[in-house]
Amino acid sequence: MKDLRKLFSYPGPGTGVSLHNHSTWSDGASTAEEMCRAAKAAKIRVFGLSDHWVVHPDRKLMPVPWSVAPDRLDAYFGELARLKKLFEDDSFTLLAGLEADFFFENFREVLSALEKYPLDYLVGSVHYAGTFPVDNSPAEWEGLTEEAISSICREYWEKLLGAAECGAFSFLGHLDLPKKFGFVRDPEAYLPAARRVLDAAAATGTPVELNTAGWFKECREPYPSPAILREACLRRVPVVISADAHASSHVNRNFPEAQALLRQAGYPC
Ligand SMILES: [Zn+2]
Ligand SMILES: [Zn+2]
Repeated sequence: MKDLRKLFSYPGPGTGVSLHNHSTWSDGASTAEEMCRAAKAAKIRVFGLSDHWVVHPDRKLMPVPWSVAPDRLDAYFGELARLKKLFEDDSFTLLAGLEADFFFENFREVLSALEKYPLDYLVGSVHYAGTFPVDNSPAEWEGLTEEAISSICREYWEKLLGAAECGAFSFLGHLDLPKKFGFVRDPEAYLPAARRVLDAAAATGTPVELNTAGWFKECREPYPSPAILREACLRRVPVVISADAHASSHVNRNFPEAQALLRQAGYPC
């Protein structure tokens, strides 16, 4: 994988960098080519596609419909190589990434299976608590008891801690994702769990993202919250701004707002 540290540099994130984006290879609405064309038009200098790669340890859930299909990884990287040739020039670099789901049960195998691919970087994310899909739809949260919600959140943060501790990811995705649909009544209750993740991220040199997609969901704020961002800044954890774009019109959505939020959190950018 590529050393991307200069893109995440503390102090402050580089501008013109957008590394968390999806295409029709997983659950995006635009093709990889359309995403690249839009990124170039938006004057993004370093653009990455990071389609989902989910190997759920519960075989009943496989294949996960919103992941790159299990037998399509070669084709995915082949397409990204073609797009590098088509779009790259002095002002535009395309990086081939994946957003991989972290599971304690299989992360070592998943990581080692990816070694043979020309992977530039890997986003480490958690989308499941057990078999519960955390960010799939509000319908799945409706009717859950407070106890069930806290159990989902506890498991979510434990897994994210595992992802931070393993040190294998280029950056961690959407830290406080369970708040997405507005069912977690007091997201601040998970600040101690977030601090543990950030301590581990600082120790393993794993950056985190400021993901602007949350602004457009029921939670109405980015991932992570301003409070967690301040904690990240205290620990000098590098941050990169991402759109988590699933459509070509979103490749740098709310980046100026994110930059302002980073400044408020104490990042000198
Ligand atoms: Zn994600
Ligand atoms: Zn994503």
